[in-house]
Amino acid sequence: MPRYEYRCRSCGDTFELSRPMAESADPAVCPDGHADTVKLLSTVAVGGTAARGAAAPAAPSGGGGGCCGGGCCG
Ligand SMILES: [Zn+2]
Repeated sequence: MPRYEYRCRSCGDTFELSRPMAESADPAVCPDGHADTVKLLSTVAVGGTAARGAAAPAAPSGGGGGCCGGGCCG
């Protein structure tokens, strides 16, 4: 579930809420109970995307290496 950051205009506090995207525009109440809050633009962490892409690419299969460097691949 994405996390959204809000700032309270009554006390100046910032806080995060995890809520469905469909409710991201809904009013958020600050931890102190103030309703005068604004939604901040922040990095939305959707679960799972940051964990991918770290592995090094494996060597291409089926070749002895250097084929495309030698001009045989057209
Ligand atoms: Zn507040």
